[in-house]
Amino acid sequence: MSSDTEQPCDPNSGPCRDALQNLFVYIDGQLTMERRLVIKEHIDRCSHCFERFSFELELRQVVAQSCRDTVPESLKMRIAEAIGCDLDSELPPCCEQESPDSRS
Ligand SMILES: [Zn+2]
Repeated sequence: MSSDTEQPCDPNSGPCRDALQNLFVYIDGQLTMERRLVIKEHIDRCSHCFERFSFELELRQVVAQSCRDTVPESLKMRIAEAIGCDLDSELPPCCEQESPDSRS
């Protein structure tokens, strides 16, 4: 049977879990091209994952901008709530990353 149509998006199993598990690595650009492609294809047709990824990308920018100071705990809490997982353990310390457009 062909199940290439839209399936109910369950973040706890299947390609959605796979995509979401690789969310941070994907955004950090630490995946192989092949892997990125698989995930990108999934995001393209899975609105659920697409929203998660967009949210996370946006979030990254916000965090990167506010990283010169400290990220407020309240923001972290809201983020963790919004995506329903423990961000503290997943989010790499962005302050240690070299920002190509960092201004002194
Ligand atoms: Zn999905």
